Amino acid sequence: MPNETIVIIGAGIIGLSTAHHIQQHLAPTQSLLVVARDFPSSTSIDYTSPWAGAHYRPIPGTSAQARKEANQARRTYEHFKGLSASEPDAGIRFIEGIEHLEAPPAEYVDGNGVDAAYGHLDSFRHLGGGDDDDGSELPAGVRWGVRYKTYVVNSPLYCAFLLRRIVSNGGRTRACTLSNAEEAFRLDRNVRAVINCSGLGFGDDKSFIIRGQTCLVDNPCSITLTRQIADGEWSFCVPRPLGGGTIIGGTKQLHDWDPNPSLETRSKILENAAKWFPFPAGSEREFNVIRDIVGRRPAREGG
Ligand SMILES: Cc1cc2nc3c(=O)[nH]c(=O)nc-3n(C[C@H](O)[C@H](O)[C@H](O)COP(=O)(O)OP(=O)(O)OC[C@H]3O[C@@H](n4cnc5c(N)ncnc54)[C@H](O)[C@@H]3O)c2cc1C
Repeated sequence: MPNETIVIIGAGIIGLSTAHHIQQHLAPTQSLLVVARDFPSSTSIDYTSPWAGAHYRPIPGTSAQARKEANQARRTYEHFKGLSASEPDAGIRFIEGIEHLEAPPAEYVDGNGVDAAYGHLDSFRHLGGGDDDDGSELPAGVRWGVRYKTYVVNSPLYCAFLLRRIVSNGGRTRACTLSNAEEAFRLDRNVRAVINCSGLGFGDDKSFIIRGQTCLVDNPCSITLTRQIADGEWSFCVPRPLGGGTIIGGTKQLHDWDPNPSLETRSKILENAAKWFPFPAGSEREFNVIRDIVGRRPAREGG
């Protein structure tokens, strides 16, 4: 009979993944409680996970933090490979990923950083050519490109899948908004540990938001393609498995709290998508927009 509780604060992708993992290592005396303001059935601009594309795209770099994150990303890649094969209903698929950069930043030109970040990806290879020479694999204007197998996730479905798993394995949930992480120690009789996966955290002055605006369309797309534009903006398409449509993005706006989608941004996103992304002939200029999305990515200096 459990007499100790482990509390996870947060039911986003981080909280649910953490809870699901920890649950497999609990002692018979321990039980698990997930406490959150928002759960997968709800939508809020401050509940980020259901808004994520989501695809996996490595971020090269040589700092200690970049190396640590590359290592975590590598393990996640292997984990998702297993999960996509064993749990087709989880909403994860491995598909072709392509990146096209018009003005590659220094970290993309550094071979060591690129190898460290991309080396683990199945079928990874650089695209040849550039500078618009004949026979190039790169489209006009693109100076750096790679191709590999990556995963895409129907994030609302995947969060719901994790929650179902946790509950069916005996985990408990409680909907409540905490003012302080310390409060979680009072939510059950004998709370042994509290793991804070609340995104922005509680008054953490190193945390900040990165606003993202994307567009969910029902036009199908079979690959995930990311294009960096010479002005530093990024454009991407992410098909969501199990009939979830395609996410077209998108913006990354640090410290921008605007909750409203910008129609100007939507037009630009769709215009870029029509130019660069491989939608089936005939549907690339007629996007059927399901909804505009605005979300706030929780971010933190130092990780
Ligand atoms: C438009 C957009 C596109 C994105 N695309 C991608 C992508 O393609 N690939 C990718 O890897 N990432 C992507 N991201 C980023 C990704 O969505 C986030 O990094 C991720 O969802 C963060 O998950 P989280 O669990 O930390 O936070 P959240 O999903 O925000 O979850 C936080 C949890 O904590 C709870 N909580 C918060 N405060 C309290 C409180 N005071 N009391 C109780 N509970 C609380 C919330 O209710 C929630 O359950 C995207 C983000 C956006 C906005």
